[in-house]
Amino acid sequence: MPDRVPAPSAVPALPALPADELLALDRQHVWHPYGPMPGRQEPLVVESAAGVRLRLGAPAEGQDELIDGMSSWWSAIHGYNHPVLNEAVQDQLGRMSHVMFGGLTHEPAVRLAARLVEITPAGLEHVFLADSGSVAVEVAVKMCLQYWRSIGRSGKTRLMTWRGGYHGDTWQPMAVCDPEGGMHELWQGHLPRQVFADAPPGGFDAAPDPAYVAHLREVVARHADELAAVIVEPVVQGAGGMRFHSPGYLRVLRELCDEFGVLLILDEIATGFGRTGALFAADHAGITPDVMCIGKALTGGYLTLAAALCTSRVADGISQGEVPVLAHGPTFMGNPLAASVALASVDLLLGQDWRLEVKRIEAGLREGLTPAAGLPGVREVRVLGAIGVVQLDHDVDMAAATRAAVREGVWLRPFRDMIYTMPPFVTGDADVARICRAVCAAAREG
Ligand SMILES: *Cc1c(COP(=O)(O)O)cnc(C)c1O
Repeated sequence: MPDRVPAPSAVPALPALPADELLALDRQHVWHPYGPMPGRQEPLVVESAAGVRLRLGAPAEGQDELIDGMSSWWSAIHGYNHPVLNEAVQDQLGRMSHVMFGGLTHEPAVRLAARLVEITPAGLEHVFLADSGSVAVEVAVKMCLQYWRSIGRSGKTRLMTWRGGYHGDTWQPMAVCDPEGGMHELWQGHLPRQVFADAPPGGFDAAPDPAYVAHLREVVARHADELAAVIVEPVVQGAGGMRFHSPGYLRVLRELCDEFGVLLILDEIATGFGRTGALFAADHAGITPDVMCIGKALTGGYLTLAAALCTSRVADGISQGEVPVLAHGPTFMGNPLAASVALASVDLLLGQDWRLEVKRIEAGLREGLTPAAGLPGVREVRVLGAIGVVQLDHDVDMAAATRAAVREGVWLRPFRDMIYTMPPFVTGDADVARICRAVCAAAREG
């Protein structure tokens, strides 16, 4: 008997929602990131997006469209509505959008996992596909805790990190975000108490500071017996303050972890896929972590997908333990649509001279943001890869700064004392220059 499938017309298409009605419903019912209910600032309605431009549902500050200076939070590295990525999704959609991953497998997930093993630092062999960055961090932490438990070291349950970090919004990640001034300060009394070293000294090119290296050594040594893992964002600390540090500190952490028997987790969720000028930030240091988290740009911004990769040592330790399984299995694990578009996005990146594109954007950001250093209220301007940051000496007036950028035709989302941009890698030189003008305008008015 044929399946009982109704015709598409069984659900009539809805008429377009006028922008004012949409905003009224949004205000009434919809939470937005890190906001109260209802939100304090009215969001802009995006009707569609193509290339590096967001087309607005209603003009804002006289603009119908905005250049996206944020890559939708690090993710849309190839821009929007990309023909190659569209085709990958459409092609997969014609086969299946999802099947469960327990007991079943499929080509998109398997090919993606193999590709990730191929391009990440040597020694990372096994891939756990998760549905968001925060979940990938949860899985990474679970892997490390379980590894030690499995080999009979169940006292090793704590994590060490350095201050100024950000690792996501679920429970374990919150516990290793910077405990002061960050978004999760409220929960400090309730989170697992982890071990914090001082924030790494700033500057990608600065030589490692021996006093800071000694400090790291002292903290790892003091807590070695109870530490399961050190977890850090390599080279760029993102949502914790947009600070850059020397890759030398990653080599130091690798050595300390080896010496004192601690696992090393690198959270590359923001830094992965070329953003800092290396394919992965770990490549600047030439090290392999025991576990690595990736997400954000993994699908080119199309769908939510992340992964925790680990070495055979970690996987074997877990799988030979008293409970020889990793008890984690998201409902949408390995989602075929997400895996297909991720594979297409990775191959699209690797199939072009992405280093050159990132260098080109880096040069544009350096040139365009230099004038900001002379503005009153600006503390520091820093650029690394396709990331540009203007740090103020005061908290940004979000509404005023956003408005100033929109007036220049650019979408920016400042936070705390930072106005920053990480444009899609396909952003042309004129658009990079315009983004820089918008950052400067936001710094002036915010
Ligand atoms: C964004 C981010 C996360 C969290 O990822 P989500 O997909 O938002 O859960 C974790 N770590 C880092 C470094 C990030 O930038």
